Amino acid sequence: MARVVVVGAGLGGLAAAARLAAAGHAVTVLEQAPQVGGKLGWFERDGHGFDTGPSLVTLPQVLEDLFAATGAPLSQVLPLQRLDPAVAYRFADGTTTAVPGHREDVPARLDADLGPGSGAQWAALLTRAEAMWRATEQPFLRSPLAGAATLARLARNTADLRTIAPGRTLRGLGAAHLTDPRLRMLLDRYATYSGSDPRRAPAALLTVPYAEQAFGSWYVPGGLRRLPEAVAARAVERGTVVRTGTAVTEVLVTGGRAAGVRLADGEVLPADVVVCNADATSLYSRLLPPQAPVRRARAALRRVTPSSSGFVLLLALRGRTPGLAHHTVLFPTDYDAEFDALFGGRGRRGPKRPVADPTVYVSAPDDPATRPGADSESWFVLVNAPRHEPGTGVDWTSPGLADRHADQVLATMAARGLDVRDRVRWRVVRTPADLERETASPGGSIYGTSSNGARAAFLRPANASPVPGLFLAGGSAHPGGGLPLVTLSAEIVAGLIGPA
Ligand SMILES: Cc1cc2nc3c(=O)[nH]c(=O)nc-3n(C[C@H](O)[C@H](O)[C@H](O)COP(=O)(O)OP(=O)(O)OC[C@H]3O[C@@H](n4cnc5c(N)ncnc54)[C@H](O)[C@@H]3O)c2cc1C
Repeated sequence: MARVVVVGAGLGGLAAAARLAAAGHAVTVLEQAPQVGGKLGWFERDGHGFDTGPSLVTLPQVLEDLFAATGAPLSQVLPLQRLDPAVAYRFADGTTTAVPGHREDVPARLDADLGPGSGAQWAALLTRAEAMWRATEQPFLRSPLAGAATLARLARNTADLRTIAPGRTLRGLGAAHLTDPRLRMLLDRYATYSGSDPRRAPAALLTVPYAEQAFGSWYVPGGLRRLPEAVAARAVERGTVVRTGTAVTEVLVTGGRAAGVRLADGEVLPADVVVCNADATSLYSRLLPPQAPVRRARAALRRVTPSSSGFVLLLALRGRTPGLAHHTVLFPTDYDAEFDALFGGRGRRGPKRPVADPTVYVSAPDDPATRPGADSESWFVLVNAPRHEPGTGVDWTSPGLADRHADQVLATMAARGLDVRDRVRWRVVRTPADLERETASPGGSIYGTSSNGARAAFLRPANASPVPGLFLAGGSAHPGGGLPLVTLSAEIVAGLIGPA
């Protein structure tokens, strides 16, 4: 039995704790915030309740695996609700389509809404996506990152390699297979699921719409924040100690091995194994001693683009919106202008700035747990935003900026047919700076590093650090951000550490 310390109680940290405790280790989770969950936050006031982070669960099988491996099944603890339609889209030309929640229903809907032939083109692309998924799920998503060995695993079958189209971007793939610009836009949006630019993200991100449409879009009744609460409860059930309000200031290395952590009040917790769920940049730049042998890991992090952030409006609304889907996306005319604003243009040398005419995402759960009464709604509105980078990029704490941007987002929604300005009871604005402050995510990056660039996936920090006994589980490490992937990173880490 090893003494394991987990730094951070985000979903990845909690899932690692639950698995390691179930495997017989003595696990302690240390979380700097007053509550568990990390980016899976919750805000409530006057009977209105909002998830402040994720609003969409995909790949539910990954969560099912976690619960099954550690005790009672997910269906008994937290039944998920499948969404149908998955997302309602509105394009700049006024066309709308509500993409069904089951893959087999999607082509007919696209034919009906975007014109005959759209469905067949999309279905053909998803068939390719399915092959990509088969080629990458086990060797990449479910395995530790191991440099050349990972590439070799992926390249074992040249047909698989051709399917993944390593030199191609998501944008390039869409341009080659989809003739309708609206369909291409729909595909481009999946790059933003990892905070990336479709013009630089690899074609392999085609697996994201595949995963969503093949395995469904899901909601957790009562709010997604119930997910980390349930995983924390499972970890505790299996013997884990969870300490909130406890910041780790240093990961201790003795004799070349991870030896424990130092807390903000000076307390030292010795450990045989440290699992870091905090952002990898913080670990490698701040938490480890300067002489730790992590020079290459630090250098790899400098070569990747951090993921973009998000600007969030929580809207407490009077009245209800008839026919509103759970998730709605309102597209702009010029999608590229959005990516230029987020990342500084293709050359990454231009100014980053709040997106003037952003894509707007509205999550409006029809869930009594989120509203004070039947004649109210609680909307989570998200637009992509550049990270908080005072001095070199956007300073989201600049006086007036957040409120001006919030007004602009509401006006944009109104211009695209969703005007709720006279129904707002109150609003809460959450900027990338708030996300950074509350979740200790540098710059408020949502997903750690982005997938921008053909090698980004291989430069992402590995789950086993160069320091023996120190592991990384979470969205800034392999295989990446988003709820299913951070849960997979925990599974990989638990596998690397092994049973007691
Ligand atoms: C607005 C928004 C929308 C999103 N939408 C979706 C979505 O719809 N679907 C989806 O799948 N994903 C979504 N995501 C991404 C998803 O939330 C994350 O990928 C995932 O929750 C990250 O989990 P994690 O394990 O990496 O930990 P995090 O949630 O990043 O938590 C890390 C934890 O470590 C703690 N910590 C950091 N440093 C220290 C320290 N020194 N000492 C102690 N504790 C420390 C932090 O306080 C934090 O609690 C969204 C995120 C945001 C912000």
